[in-house]
Amino acid sequence: MEAKMDLLGGAAQYDICRACGGAQSNRIRDALDRWIYPAVRPDGKRVSLLKVLQTNVCENDCFYCTNRAGYDTPRASFTPDELARLFMELVQRRRVQGLFLSSGVYGRSGQAMERMLATVELVRRRYAYRGYVHLKIMPGAQDAAVEQAVRLADRVSLNLEAPTPERLARITHSKELHNQLLTPLRRAAALARERAGRVTLTTQFVVGAADESDSELLQSVQSLYHNLGLARAYYSAFQPLAHTPLEEHAPTPTWREHRLYQADFLLRCYGFAIDELVYSPEGNLPRACDPKEMWAVNHPEVFPIELNTAPESQLLRVPGIGPVTAKRLVARRRDGKVRDLQQVAAAGGSAARAAPYVLLDGHRPAYQMALWQADAPGV
Ligand code: SF4
Repeated sequence: MEAKMDLLGGAAQYDICRACGGAQSNRIRDALDRWIYPAVRPDGKRVSLLKVLQTNVCENDCFYCTNRAGYDTPRASFTPDELARLFMELVQRRRVQGLFLSSGVYGRSGQAMERMLATVELVRRRYAYRGYVHLKIMPGAQDAAVEQAVRLADRVSLNLEAPTPERLARITHSKELHNQLLTPLRRAAALARERAGRVTLTTQFVVGAADESDSELLQSVQSLYHNLGLARAYYSAFQPLAHTPLEEHAPTPTWREHRLYQADFLLRCYGFAIDELVYSPEGNLPRACDPKEMWAVNHPEVFPIELNTAPESQLLRVPGIGPVTAKRLVARRRDGKVRDLQQVAAAGGSAARAAPYVLLDGHRPAYQMALWQADAPGV
């Protein structure tokens, strides 16, 4: 059983289940709990998840993946009974507070999905487990399977991997974006809406594998946020694996993944419109500067912004001021004026980054070099 867990836990590492970044570096890997990952639940609570594949048998051919059909790799599968029991043992030992279950695709996804659903049914019914479950929906999943997934899980996800049909065709011949991926995702979105927020929906992209631009990715993501009520998109920088068709393809630098998360955050939490993001002529976010600062540099007519009178939506346009800081500054103004940059830092913002863009009671703040060292970077 341990060898099987090693194989199927290892194979699950490329799915991202937490707020940001690659899962590999944060994996808790010791003798007992090799495939337990720290994660952030949709409600913000930090938990440890058992992250595992039901099977790494797969009939698809994704060019970046070592589980694809025909690849010479050891294969294994859990029966629903085995996996449900193993997970519940970890729950009872208080080693995990949730399950992240994915799978290779076989039986035109129907059988793979059936087995995953059977596992979660056992966990919910036989063991009466009420905790967190994140369940992958397989490409091409039928409506009934999607409905069961949404009924059983707290979060469901379906990885789109690429933003357009043309880009997807560059990294697989066995998936089709509209019928196999977007149709079940739309069905899941409609059902999630009926459940009024009790289940959330996410997706993931393999960044750079299909030579897509950041603009293509973010256009697709914006449409998913707007039309499907997607909770989050995750970005996974492509890394070539030996003996896969893309082994010669250049890896995607992790700074690109980071910039995409920053731009995504602007769309979801800062009120930015998709056409406000600034790209290079090739449609990519700049490496040298975060997307919010890039927007600010390109819009000198908006600045400086008076911290004592600007509405919250305008404060959010200032580099170094995020949603929490903007709210705190607005609340702070009820007790008196914001007169120095240390009050921005005390509210959780980056005073050094905000300094060139703000007025404090009508005056430009003195540039405070010391704060450069004290502040953490970020959007
Ligand atoms: S569907 Fe694609 S990415 Fe998923 S396991 Fe199969 S080959 Fe790998």
